[in-house]
Amino acid sequence: MSSYEIIDHTYDVVVVGAGGAGLRATFGMANQGLKTACITKVFPTRSHTVAAQGGVSAALGNMGEDDWRWHMYDTVKGSDWLGDQDAIEYMCREAIPSIIELEHYGVPFSRTDEGKIYQRPFGGMTTHFGEGRAQRTCAAADRTGHAILHTLYQQALKYEAEFYIEYFALDLIMDEEGACRGVIALNMHDGTIHRFRAHETVLATGGYGRSYFSCTSAHTCTGDGMGMVLRAGLPLQDMEFVQFHPTGVYGAGCLITEGVRGEGGYLTNSEGERFMERYAPNAKDLASRDVVSRSMTIEIQEGRGVGPNQDHINLHLEHLGADVINERLPGIAETARIFAGVDVTRAPIPVLPTVHYNMGGVPTNYKGEVVTLRDGNPDAVVPGLMAIGEAACVSVHGANRLGSNSLLDLVVFGRAAGLRAKELVDEQGPNHRPLPKDSADFALNRLDRLRNANGSQPTARIRDNMQSVMQNFAAVFRTGETLEQGCQKMDEVFASFEDVAVSDRSLVWNSDLIETLELDNLLGCSVTTIQSARNRTESRGAHAREDYTERDDDQWMKHTLSWMDTQGKTEIDYRPVHMTTLTDEVEVFPPKARVY
Ligand SMILES: Cc1cc2nc3c(=O)[nH]c(=O)nc-3n(C[C@H](O)[C@H](O)[C@H](O)COP(=O)(O)OP(=O)(O)OC[C@H]3O[C@@H](n4cnc5c(N)ncnc54)[C@H](O)[C@@H]3O)c2cc1C
Repeated sequence: MSSYEIIDHTYDVVVVGAGGAGLRATFGMANQGLKTACITKVFPTRSHTVAAQGGVSAALGNMGEDDWRWHMYDTVKGSDWLGDQDAIEYMCREAIPSIIELEHYGVPFSRTDEGKIYQRPFGGMTTHFGEGRAQRTCAAADRTGHAILHTLYQQALKYEAEFYIEYFALDLIMDEEGACRGVIALNMHDGTIHRFRAHETVLATGGYGRSYFSCTSAHTCTGDGMGMVLRAGLPLQDMEFVQFHPTGVYGAGCLITEGVRGEGGYLTNSEGERFMERYAPNAKDLASRDVVSRSMTIEIQEGRGVGPNQDHINLHLEHLGADVINERLPGIAETARIFAGVDVTRAPIPVLPTVHYNMGGVPTNYKGEVVTLRDGNPDAVVPGLMAIGEAACVSVHGANRLGSNSLLDLVVFGRAAGLRAKELVDEQGPNHRPLPKDSADFALNRLDRLRNANGSQPTARIRDNMQSVMQNFAAVFRTGETLEQGCQKMDEVFASFEDVAVSDRSLVWNSDLIETLELDNLLGCSVTTIQSARNRTESRGAHAREDYTERDDDQWMKHTLSWMDTQGKTEIDYRPVHMTTLTDEVEVFPPKARVY
């Protein structure tokens, strides 16, 4: 192995990721006096959170009656009863102070005439436990993520958290007792290796949309935290649940927010029919995302798609008028013009279901601590390791996330992780135990192997193969047969990574190397996703099996855990769904059929 210069750092906490979750945790930790570092591979305000459009949910009741218990019910139902009800209770209750706090930190929300935070309707959000339609999604026009991310970054700077920007985290430092002791990162500017030692390491690395060919997420959404967790011998949870957003721009894949339908937009097929009225008579175009995506797919499969190839659907907002569009949806008008060549005041936008969000991820409790199944205990905490945001699976979204509940998840659990980290660091005292001698070896061996990889397959080709398998074999609808084929093909793709070719050997801005490290992480996410999907023989939330069309609570009301070894072989086990509440202010919502 080549020799690498290692630079050591010691912190109370190190946060990997500077999206909404990472920044909320970082400044929450720094403002409680913890010595905090935040490592990020892109400049903080370029994290994918910046692209969030529609808004963030909280039962503020600014535009009609609302109650956090109704929000909790909607989230449990949206999750198709796979979400942990203690965590959902925590999120929906804490939503209210968390959003008011954001407002006070300076997020420039849109306003009602009375000057309150503007709230729009979103899919699956109701009042009175499914009776009425709630206006619960707080918005800053259609650029809510941008507004939140910039505010959070400013707050983090104010509290003097230390940033390591354009540093790529390679692997966790795990000790013999299975505790996490920090993380090893590569400075992408100059190739130096940085060893961060910390009482708590927080993964806030976002989702893995880039496992698929067509997705709304940024090129940086490569599941790096999930990859690190798998390599540390820990499991991922509920990876089979991948959300398709109903309205990605046909061809380009970029997102048209659900806020468009919240403002009154609707879908039509080739006959001009508003077909959602047939599939979801009450909620119509605002049924939850899995339901709308499946309905669109059925329309296309039955020959009622639009366009020359009858392979997509129309989304109309012409009738809203230029004033509403310019005030509430300016970014959408621009996206449609650039990526679909459409003037939304005159013509519909061509759309298609597109991968948008990963419900699965690193299992945690509602305090942000990573958990695993150990000695029969399904809630065993992994000391020193936390996860938040899209990288984590708390699980508040269960089998299907409701729109505007992710930005909420970021701020609520980012905040919770900060509070918990403070308690944990105080318990441990200031001193760090010595690190294992070989603490950097694991990360450096892998880095060195990939940097010098001289096989015959370029990274881009292997990535294309992986994305095509996921797109075709782990899609909106799944069957045992296609999943079986998909698993075999994915095994081949995984094996081909042994033969990867990296042509650039330098350590200064080596994008070939970085993309290869990212592909390594994506492969772990893809394998565990498709294997978990094959294993789950029921339909629930976003996981729709044509050969098992019903939800099967007796067999399957449980979380999937999947481990993966270095050969790409997976092992599967389960954790029970938490069917308890944290307080007596609300009761558990027992499972029932999910109709909209
Ligand atoms: C187009 C789009 C629109 C959306 N709109 C909404 C919406 O309106 N409402 C809503 O609730 N949700 C929305 N979502 C979902 C939501 O925005 C995301 O789930 C959320 O922003 C993820 O935030 P995060 O903090 O977990 O990760 P991200 O924002 O993805 O940030 C990940 C961070 O991790 C860092 N990182 C990753 N890997 C490494 C590594 N190896 N080393 C160092 N750093 C690393 C990155 O640099 C980055 O800072 C939308 C998603 C998309 C894609």
